[in-house]
Amino acid sequence: MPWNESITYPIGKNGIAFFIGSIITLLTTGYAVYATLQAWRREHNKVYLMMTAVVSILLLAALEGILVRAAVIEFVHLGPFGLLIMIIFMSFILNHASQQQLVDSEKRFRSLIEQSPFSMQVFSPDGWTRQVNPAWEALWGIEHKYLEGVYNIFNDQQLIDKNVMPFIQKGFEGTACEIPAIVYNPAENQDVKGPVRDRWIQGYIYPIKNEKGELREVIIMQQDVTEKKRVDDAIQMIAAGVSSVTGDEFFKQLVLQLAKVSNAQYAFIGKLDTTMLIVKTVVVCAHGSIVENMSYALKGTPCAQVIGKSTSSFPSKVQQSFPDDKRLKEMNAESYIGTPLFSSTRKPLGLIGVVSTHPLEQIKQLQAIIEIFAARAAAELQREYAELQVRHMAYQDFLTGLANRARFHQELSQLLAQSRSDNLTGALLLVDLDHFKTINDALGHDIGDEVLRVVAVRLKSMHRSDLFISRLGGDEFVALMTLRKQDVLEPQIHIQHVAQMIMESVTNPIFLGDRAFTLGASIGIAMFPEPDQNELDILRQADIALYRAKAMGRGIIQTYLPSFNTDVAKRLVIEGALRQAVENEQLALHYQPQLNAKGELVGAETLLRWNHPKLGNVSPGNFIPVAEETGVIHKLGMWVFEQAFSKLIAWKKQSIPFNAQLAVNVSSWQFARPDFIKDIMDILIKYAINPKQLVLELTETTLLYDLEEATNKLNTLRDLGIRIALDDFGTGYSSLAYLRDLPIDQLKIDRTFVCELNDNTEHPLVESMIIIGQHMNLEVVAEGVETESQKSKLIKCGCNVLQGYYYSE
Ligand code: C2E
Ligand code: CA
Ligand code: CA
Repeated sequence: MPWNESITYPIGKNGIAFFIGSIITLLTTGYAVYATLQAWRREHNKVYLMMTAVVSILLLAALEGILVRAAVIEFVHLGPFGLLIMIIFMSFILNHASQQQLVDSEKRFRSLIEQSPFSMQVFSPDGWTRQVNPAWEALWGIEHKYLEGVYNIFNDQQLIDKNVMPFIQKGFEGTACEIPAIVYNPAENQDVKGPVRDRWIQGYIYPIKNEKGELREVIIMQQDVTEKKRVDDAIQMIAAGVSSVTGDEFFKQLVLQLAKVSNAQYAFIGKLDTTMLIVKTVVVCAHGSIVENMSYALKGTPCAQVIGKSTSSFPSKVQQSFPDDKRLKEMNAESYIGTPLFSSTRKPLGLIGVVSTHPLEQIKQLQAIIEIFAARAAAELQREYAELQVRHMAYQDFLTGLANRARFHQELSQLLAQSRSDNLTGALLLVDLDHFKTINDALGHDIGDEVLRVVAVRLKSMHRSDLFISRLGGDEFVALMTLRKQDVLEPQIHIQHVAQMIMESVTNPIFLGDRAFTLGASIGIAMFPEPDQNELDILRQADIALYRAKAMGRGIIQTYLPSFNTDVAKRLVIEGALRQAVENEQLALHYQPQLNAKGELVGAETLLRWNHPKLGNVSPGNFIPVAEETGVIHKLGMWVFEQAFSKLIAWKKQSIPFNAQLAVNVSSWQFARPDFIKDIMDILIKYAINPKQLVLELTETTLLYDLEEATNKLNTLRDLGIRIALDDFGTGYSSLAYLRDLPIDQLKIDRTFVCELNDNTEHPLVESMIIIGQHMNLEVVAEGVETESQKSKLIKCGCNVLQGYYYSE
């Protein structure tokens, strides 16, 4: 040895086994160093570095041993010592590593709790707080140091709601469970702060067990669900507020509630006008109350990003985004949220908007709430629009665009009242075209219609602002005028002059294509006001004057005189004949079948026919009014019921099955009689007819005359099982507000509207009427169906029952 000592030990000859063993040892050790280094590179752990060092020592020792053994160097054989050192180091390292792992998993567990967004509390099995996380501290306003290792859940229950205790108990018994949402009030005790405001908190409690199933820890995890709860409550609150109301009240409630739940100063519903450039508000809520509506240009407003598109929100600084929007400035707006309203066919209708003077919180939730109610608002808007359209059309004569009969009645009653209060002279000029029927029959309805249109245009183009012109139907036009007594010395002469002008404008030749017509006309005039004179009197007087004029020849203008009243010849003839008609069996009842969409027979309407030996076939349109005026209608009406019911019996006897409904027309005069219901009952009993088989057809005018009385009667009839159809729907006043309240079962769309349904035009009117019918839960019947295409259109629109010449006269 270098220090001059000698150690001697015998070495045999190095055999082949020695070399192989040495190479294997070196390769193995070298590979161990390599693998350890690789592992270190991946994990950057000191443990691996140490491993490398130890294995390197072993490598060196092995190398030295081989060199000594091969007698290259003389030294002590160190191989075994290297192994020893490695074993010592390895066991040390392994111990260290396993301990490190334990610490790591502990750390990971703690940071799992620590960084959880949910409030978390960890307890020992006996209830001591081990850990709470920052989310818990934030929620409850208590620092962890006041709890950890100090607070025991079973000792001090001040922090715990009693309702929660059973769940906690269950958790500590080892069962996981949900703790339902409970509102926690801020604690009064200053030391224990509790949540800052009233909060809804929902949570879970769950045990942590080891492999053996022993309880190691219990965790309570909680979450503030106040906002979610607020959205749910808001939806419920709005829904409750608007559920039972419709129309304007719905819109009002909706914006009031929306503003409230979103804490905003303004909420509104706007609809797009036909130009698509302007929005008109339907309802506006400002500072908690409904204010006047307004309209604004869409361009440059946040609404432009909403209408026809999708929900848009500007949670803050909305004014900066829309510097040109003056209204935002006026409102001092900071934030905005809007949702578009679409029709059922995805046409843009308008929007719901919310504007606030502070940044809006909870934008997402708010958006969800508004979108939920947008669908209902759009439906409501669409329904109102349809109603408006019908009401509008109900006042317009669809052929000529002039005011129609309903509108005329309105105007007349207004002028009559005004003439009385303002001391004016008024006149009603009834214009009837002579021999128009001949044109119609000879040249066809198309030409007839065209002639009526030309006449209407001429009357309109007289441009007299003091003249109100309307078409009553057929070839009857009417003009209304009022004069100040002090302005004209002789009102009579002035009126005659106007009548003359009308006469000239109507009788000027009309050119249609290569045809020229010269129409004759007669005019009857009635003056008002006179004592005790009502609107119907005025119209009847003009009618009598007109009758006179016609009797005298063509082109006559006749003003009514009281003496005329006695000689209403035509009427007298009809009246006299009519009285006999019932007895002489000149009357007949016809039955027009009613079919459903599938083409099955569901009923029949009775139509009265009068075949007079001299007068020929008189239309019910002509004789029913006379029958009404003369009172014959009551006898006639009963005859119709008797006739219809005995027919039902006869059919039964002949084994012709007819179990469908039988619809009978009832005149307003019949309905008005106090005994009406009793009479019907008697006759139903007499023939043993099931009241459920009977449908009474009444018109709007009948019902609206005395709404309360009519409603009572209708209710009684319906209680008996009799059903009610509203006849001629769309031609009368169509006061939908009243109709909604009327106890009726069927809506009969008038023939004139069905007529309109031709191939290439749109027909929003009929569609609207059907929609309204469905909306009021009524069966919709269309009368006067003449063509296949009308039939299929009606069925497509959802019409339930159809009748007309297409099926059978
Ligand atoms: P309404 O109740 O509206 O009856 C429908 C009218 O349309 C009937 O005229 C019918 O013949 C006609 N009609 C049915 N389908 C078609 C069609 O496809 N095309 C055309 N162009 N017309 C069709 P009608 O029989 O002249 O009756 C006129 C009105 O007289 C009835 O109108 C009804 O208000 C009244 N009326 C008829 N019978 C009675 C009755 O027994 N009692 C009372 N009080 N009034 C009646
Ligand atoms: Ca009818
Ligand atoms: Ca009708």
